[in-house]
Amino acid sequence: MPALLTHYCLALEVFGEDADEAAFVGSQGPDPFFFYGRLPWKKREDSKTVPSFGTLLHRIDPADFYAKLLMRASKSEDCAILKPYLEGLFLHYCLDRRAHPFIFYKSGQSTDPSKSHLYSISHMYYETFVDVLVARRYDLKKNPDECLELSEDKALAISRLFMETEEEAKIAGDLPLDAFSGGVKDYKTLERFLLSRHGVKKALITKVFGPASEPSALSYPSSVEKIPHIDFLNESHGLWRDPVSGEEHHTDFYELMKEAELDYASFKEAIDKAYEGEDVTSLLKGLTKGLNHDGTSEGALKTHFDLVWKVE
Ligand SMILES: [Zn+2]
Repeated sequence: MPALLTHYCLALEVFGEDADEAAFVGSQGPDPFFFYGRLPWKKREDSKTVPSFGTLLHRIDPADFYAKLLMRASKSEDCAILKPYLEGLFLHYCLDRRAHPFIFYKSGQSTDPSKSHLYSISHMYYETFVDVLVARRYDLKKNPDECLELSEDKALAISRLFMETEEEAKIAGDLPLDAFSGGVKDYKTLERFLLSRHGVKKALITKVFGPASEPSALSYPSSVEKIPHIDFLNESHGLWRDPVSGEEHHTDFYELMKEAELDYASFKEAIDKAYEGEDVTSLLKGLTKGLNHDGTSEGALKTHFDLVWKVE
């Protein structure tokens, strides 16, 4: 799921502010696929296939597919453009994997198809609060859409890499050539459209689309002080549980970001090895430990929750 500013802040921490723009867009992982063709005023032909591909990449243990991406990239004529993107992608995975169990515990999830949409809104909504708080801590001055700056040639090289790797791996339907680049463009446009500096536009968006709508949930709150009783980042170190295993934690969100940064160091070694020509499939499998972007194994049932607000 998005949490664009949080991923950007961690990338700043790990890569430094002078890093390649592809590393920052990479830190948004496969999330741009979610937004391909989703602008109501700009439809695209593959507006179902591409977002589903983004969902699939979040659901599966990505070791196999990401190993293929790495090995193909290392042999590509665009290898230098692709490497910072891939570093960002792995950092995104590391943070998703650490943060999602906490976010699911607080915002919920349902396997009931009639309810899953509301829970996904709850998840997005929660993440916007996390984003605003983390961005404030990092003193980030950028608007969300500015975190998605990417030149056309880089966007196309990354897009081509995904299309060709999917042709090889066949884990989903065929991707169009602009799946990634179009996703980044649409994500950027949407963020620009949803930006509500003073809350007026968010109020209007909520009025037009409804409170339980994606546009309203994705539009950043102008003030987090409106919900003072919710400890969105668990700064009080209260108990939370892994939604699948029930394992107890007291970590706060910044500690989860730190853990992700530490995890990333091993993935960075795998990236370098792939770029030296090594087959890194089994190495990556050892590092992901079967965990997807949600921090669980595919299909694992989440049963432990303590929701911060009523969803149904
Ligand atoms: Zn993600």
